[in-house]
Amino acid sequence: MSSKKLKKISKKNPELAIIGGGIFGTTCAIILGRYFSVTLFEKNSDIFGEATWANQYRHHYGFHYPRSVATINEIKRTRKDFEKFYKSIIVSVPSYYCVSKTGSNVSPGKYLGIFKRLRIPYKLEYPPREFLNRSAVSVCIRAPEAVYDYKKLKNFVKKKIGTNENIRLALGCEIIRAKLDDDGAKILKIKNKNRIYDKRFDYVINATYARHNNFCSWLGFPGKRLRFRLKELPLLKLNTKQRCAVTIMDGPFATILPVGESKNLYTLGDVPLSVHRSVTGVKSSSVDDARWGNYRSRWREMKKRCAQWFPAIKNARYAGSMFVILPTEAGADATDARNTDVVRHGHGCWSIFSGKILTAVAAANKILADIKKDLNK
Ligand SMILES: Cc1cc2nc3c(=O)[nH]c(=O)nc-3n(C[C@H](O)[C@H](O)[C@H](O)COP(=O)(O)OP(=O)(O)OC[C@H]3O[C@@H](n4cnc5c(N)ncnc54)[C@H](O)[C@@H]3O)c2cc1C
Repeated sequence: MSSKKLKKISKKNPELAIIGGGIFGTTCAIILGRYFSVTLFEKNSDIFGEATWANQYRHHYGFHYPRSVATINEIKRTRKDFEKFYKSIIVSVPSYYCVSKTGSNVSPGKYLGIFKRLRIPYKLEYPPREFLNRSAVSVCIRAPEAVYDYKKLKNFVKKKIGTNENIRLALGCEIIRAKLDDDGAKILKIKNKNRIYDKRFDYVINATYARHNNFCSWLGFPGKRLRFRLKELPLLKLNTKQRCAVTIMDGPFATILPVGESKNLYTLGDVPLSVHRSVTGVKSSSVDDARWGNYRSRWREMKKRCAQWFPAIKNARYAGSMFVILPTEAGADATDARNTDVVRHGHGCWSIFSGKILTAVAAANKILADIKKDLNK
């Protein structure tokens, strides 16, 4: 739906600011832009330049989170709404999950038991041998998962934003400060090239992910204790007969997934080797921060290690690497939970700290419901 006119739900016409042009900020802009005037600020020259670009594009059903029932239940709750909204960008692909014979945090029985108990369907099945060394795993299932097509997703979102005149997309505009005015308005300080100026808003949504805590510190809201990992995802061209996704659970293993609708392009995640640096604290971070230092690709080491599970990797062609910051809640390591937290700070401000892409529509709807309630008070 491209609503050109505001759907009336308020007496006044509140001005909304959304900071961050990733999947969470843009989805909020599209959904809230049906009702309000929205300005979406993105510091880069285009949307989707950070985590929404550099990830593995996996459309989760829960099989990646055997130690976090909360994450699986959130997926069950939010998936349908996302699929309805973003149907055209989800690409079905044969997806396999295996439990490693050695060193796994869950036993094969426990792994299968969780999905049986939560009624998430799967089949006992192996991928073609070129994708998996069967002797390295104790069980292998086929899951009904899929991947996102990044290019299609970006085009879809740009079209939705471009055809809704309630949304102003402010590219190359970085929010460098925020404060509360005496009358409750939020004043954002905006940097655009060499120009710095202020603008007032009624509501502000912080969807900055790796820079989540900056916004909180400007306004005196509690920040999160986050673990920031600088991660490398190599892009590989595989010469295989068919496409499929394979993930070895649950611990220091690896995962390989096709990139959208591409014929033979894959992302590789190697749990230990993908992490170049890790820091923990209540501070934001970014891949361009000097303190992350220089980093070189570990593709060669990854190739050697991951060939023990994925034979096709031996003949892969390396096509570059994506480097990105993965921020996670510092306490999440024990269960590997990846829930999306929509924090209502009060004063007309929200922050979204995301866990997985498929929660984006639910997060936007939650904020919409909060604002409607607020306006109807
Ligand atoms: C290595 C890795 C693999 C992953 N794999 C998957 C997966 O397979 N499936 C899945 O569902 N999820 C995956 N995730 C998680 C998923 O990528 C994120 O949850 C999601 O992309 C985050 O979207 P976002 O909009 O919150 O953040 P981003 O896409 O990072 O967007 C935030 C935006 O805010 C902008 N910004 C920041 N500060 C400011 C400012 N002050 N002013 C203006 N703009 C600002 C940034 O430039 C950026 O564009 C993965 C994440 C990583 C890092």
